[in-house]
Amino acid sequence: MRITGTFAVTMGPKGLVSDPVIEIEDNRIKSVESHPGATGDVHVNGVILPGLISTHTHLHGLVAYGHPVPPPAGFWPFLRQWWWPLVEDVLTADDVESLAAYAALLHLKSGYTCFCDVMEAPYAEPGFMLREAKAIAETGARAVVSNEATERAGDDIAEKLLQENAGLLDLSGLVRGLMSVHTTFSCSGDYIRKAKEIARDRGSLFQLHLSEGTYHVEDTLKRFGKRPVPYLDDLGVLDEMTIASQSVHLTEEEIEILAARSVSVSHNPISNMEIGTGAAPVAQMLEHRVNVTLGDDGFVRAFDPFVNLSTTFLLHTLETGGGVVGAEDVLSFLTTNAAQALRLEAGSIEDGKLADLVLLEDHSPSPLTAGNAIYHTVLGAIGSDVTAVIVDGKIVMLDGEAQLVDEKALRDRAMDTIGKLWKDAA
Ligand SMILES: [Zn+2]
Repeated sequence: MRITGTFAVTMGPKGLVSDPVIEIEDNRIKSVESHPGATGDVHVNGVILPGLISTHTHLHGLVAYGHPVPPPAGFWPFLRQWWWPLVEDVLTADDVESLAAYAALLHLKSGYTCFCDVMEAPYAEPGFMLREAKAIAETGARAVVSNEATERAGDDIAEKLLQENAGLLDLSGLVRGLMSVHTTFSCSGDYIRKAKEIARDRGSLFQLHLSEGTYHVEDTLKRFGKRPVPYLDDLGVLDEMTIASQSVHLTEEEIEILAARSVSVSHNPISNMEIGTGAAPVAQMLEHRVNVTLGDDGFVRAFDPFVNLSTTFLLHTLETGGGVVGAEDVLSFLTTNAAQALRLEAGSIEDGKLADLVLLEDHSPSPLTAGNAIYHTVLGAIGSDVTAVIVDGKIVMLDGEAQLVDEKALRDRAMDTIGKLWKDAA
């Protein structure tokens, strides 16, 4: 298959390629060259990007869109009074499957070719995560999925959740598994260590929430006399296979530890803004060469990567006065850095890389040029500009239409689930 466009923002050694011709063989990129006037099987008057990768989502966040009971303000009330009792604790295996399938499709439609899902459904019937993985794979999306293990629902469920998570670690192909625990105020040190040991034994990535709100910092200081990063470091769970999502409230010393241990951070600015937890110190993390990536956390227009890109750029321009976290940095968070965090041979348009691509029609009122293609993409594009999405060498979305699944059927099923949960919550 041959893909052509106006520019390719490769995020690889070739940088920006004008009049690109991208040859795909099986599921890999065979070559990327500039050939003005060449015709392709799929062409876009605009930019071709590497597939965009979210390193942290909660696909079940779909249920929260316009929920009839508004979430209370503040991180702890949000979790205790709303997110846990009204959403996560009532999910069944059927609910998980239906929400995951449709949320995966919404990610794809807007240009995410891959995401890392952190599902928490402590009372769902065993086997729910394998059902989720299968439903996602059917949409054509690439994903790394986990069941967020927690001890907040008692010992028996805590053990069941670890086993559910471990059952994902042999998955191969488009949808793989990773080990995930919630965080230090819902999981004991022993439990977190046990989960990390399973991950190490199986060569798996490990994910947890870190210092999303000030509550997390206050809790570890009070109970362990340490801030969260030194506490986790003493547990021995921070290394290059660990992804710390959120990471909002960090000191310089904590950032140095994350950098020294080669931990990747998943920054989720839109969710942080919605809950009011603060702005993560991204500029300082970049200064210390922490691998910063972007997640969508499943909230507020979360499934549109271009909203995430522009919000991230604007937030850190506001925070720093500008010029510190650039448009290319922000794009790398969703491409090369994310691929590094998830151990994927993706994230750039290069010979031999996985053929995951996003084609963006240019609708800007100003000319698209080699000098502004990245800026146009980060600040000017929107999910509806996506005309085609290619994952693993297959066209999974074309002209806004899903190619492998019946979008209406997935939507209707997810809406039934959401309607049921809303009825119970209202
Ligand atoms: Zn999260």
